[in-house]
Amino acid sequence: MARYTGPVCKLCRREGTKLFLKGSRCLTEKCAIERRSYAPGQHGQSAGRRRKQSEYARQLREKQKVKRIYGLTERQFKNLFDRVRKQPGVTGENLLAALETRLDNLVFRMGFAPSRRAARQLVRHRHIQVNGRTVDIPSYAVQPGDEVRVAPESRELAVVQASLAALSRAAPVPWIAVDSQKAVGKLLERPSRDAIPIAAQEQLIVELYSK
Ligand code: SF4
Repeated sequence: MARYTGPVCKLCRREGTKLFLKGSRCLTEKCAIERRSYAPGQHGQSAGRRRKQSEYARQLREKQKVKRIYGLTERQFKNLFDRVRKQPGVTGENLLAALETRLDNLVFRMGFAPSRRAARQLVRHRHIQVNGRTVDIPSYAVQPGDEVRVAPESRELAVVQASLAALSRAAPVPWIAVDSQKAVGKLLERPSRDAIPIAAQEQLIVELYSK
């Protein structure tokens, strides 16, 4: 499936906020949005002086932001939305919970990869196991109680080791438990909205897709 392979910092500058797509580099002064906090392109610097955003534009930008944070294509994102809108509960919260419990996101959250993009690579290249079995589908929906681990023969990969070394500096997420020595983690529960550290107005996405 077609996936964006261009410079990811442009995506942050387009959304006007840090999307943390480059791992530890995002926390340094090399972050592109710190140096050029305007949209990319010829008219990027003047874009902020344009007229007020319409409601539709706000909804669209919020959807694009969340989609880009998790690295989904439009079709993947819409399919996921169509699935969660049939679930009981608040659709926006269900959407974020479904995104957070994707296997690639959990590999990132557990500190086995420095970014979601790198996590997706690890999954695709069969370095990740769920409950002892190799799973190479980044969108795999992990269930509470499932154990996610780096395959024993892959633990010495430089990307895994570097990421685990940086794990102690990352903010803990209460709904997962990680044993960094063994490169294994467990999803303790389905995350509630309050426990998902993403600054998004998911209701705008629901409104956009409900038109
Ligand atoms: Fe975004 Fe990270 Fe690039 Fe900064 S360094 S613009 S947060 S991807």
